[in-house]
Amino acid sequence: METQYFSAIGLEIHAELKTNSKMFCGCKNDPDEKRPNVNICPVCMAHPGAIPVPNKSAMKKVAEVGLAIGGTIADFTEFDRKNYFYPDIPKGYQISQYKYPIVSGGELAGMTVTRIHLEEDTGTSKHDRGDYSLVDYNRAGVPLMELVTDTHVFDSMEEAAKIGSAFGKEYQLLLQYLGVSEANMEKGEMRVEVNISITNDKNKLGTKVEVKNLNSFRSAERAIMYELNRMKDLYEEGRQNEIVQETRGWNEAKQSTYSQRTKESAQDYRYFPDPDIPKFKLTEMFDLEEIKKGMPELPKQKRERFAKDFGIKAEDIESYINDRELGAWFEKIAHILGSAEKVKVASNYITSDFLGLKKNNSEIKMPSAENFAELITLVTDGKVSSRAAKDILAMIVINDASPLSIATEKDLLQKNDEGALKEIASKIISTNEKIVADYKGGKETALMSLVGQIMKETKGSANPAMASKILKELLG
Ligand code: ZN
Ligand code: MN
Repeated sequence: METQYFSAIGLEIHAELKTNSKMFCGCKNDPDEKRPNVNICPVCMAHPGAIPVPNKSAMKKVAEVGLAIGGTIADFTEFDRKNYFYPDIPKGYQISQYKYPIVSGGELAGMTVTRIHLEEDTGTSKHDRGDYSLVDYNRAGVPLMELVTDTHVFDSMEEAAKIGSAFGKEYQLLLQYLGVSEANMEKGEMRVEVNISITNDKNKLGTKVEVKNLNSFRSAERAIMYELNRMKDLYEEGRQNEIVQETRGWNEAKQSTYSQRTKESAQDYRYFPDPDIPKFKLTEMFDLEEIKKGMPELPKQKRERFAKDFGIKAEDIESYINDRELGAWFEKIAHILGSAEKVKVASNYITSDFLGLKKNNSEIKMPSAENFAELITLVTDGKVSSRAAKDILAMIVINDASPLSIATEKDLLQKNDEGALKEIASKIISTNEKIVADYKGGKETALMSLVGQIMKETKGSANPAMASKILKELLG
């Protein structure tokens, strides 16, 4: 019998908060600053006697995230010193939170959250100089929010990989909707680490490894799959004791993980409460009910509302959730159109045609909601064919204009005028004797060929159904 393996994963996600100033000083928090060491001061450079002053707005942002995932906001909280030495951490310790994180519990995208705490970011080292390294402290002391999930055990590797990366994606969206972080993974504003282990005994977790350097959710999903497969192979070969507790990196080019360093023993950070920072009673600092009331619409609520109000496909909704500008544009169009039928057509044109054009050309812009809605109405009223609609769309995404004027000007309005169509049909019949004979001889498909000729003659502006009806009448 084949052995059943269980896959366990847990996530640790660090996100830089979007605040004006750093976590414990007045220095500018500017992730786009390119000049090294300009946003620094005695506090974030750890000069003797400099006293840290916590950033209240950063603390509020963490509370907001906690409320958004249904977590518990701590009444009492404090900051601790996490002691370790590294050149990018000028104090010799990082101010973090240990026993009393701001948030405990909560749920998002099918995973439960253990805690969210607040700490300060490190500086950045540059090791590209050969025999020496440089450190830039602009980032040192920037507010950094750390979320830790519970370890979840899954029956299948695929499920573990899918849920793990989906959690990261949903968390990123949440932070962006709340406006607390840009959470751009490529810029390092959001850093995802995954703890991964495999076991053949559901009641006993296996040795876990931690995978870092994940700069996209696709990488996260692939790294989880890669690592679980690597571990499974070792089990199958009876070499499971070769799985060691270690940190592994993700190599994007090779699409594989590699060992970075093994943990000899758990590092002792000698956490203790920072004596320079006061303790806080968050419930006295913030009105949590007020924060809840002031919260914007979140991805989950928006999903539900779009499904209920517009009845469109789930994948369409996802496009609007992921691209808020697109979602706002769609909503505006939907309100102009009003009818559910038209809204569905509009959504199809947006997600397949408009996004298709945009994918191939970065110049493509959203036309005004009014013009886009006008185009959809031309289609649903049968005034332009779907072929002509696609042509008009390709024009208005470059030069926004009224689709009705374009259709009139370019002679794209469907010829629904029976008299005019009859004339064209007669002409086609007289010039296509063979096809007409085929049709009369019982070959039904010959009629389609004649309709095609009429469409060609009218540059696609004839209504095919009407053309077919007229042909049948004329050919009696
Ligand atoms: Zn500073
Ligand atoms: Mn941390």
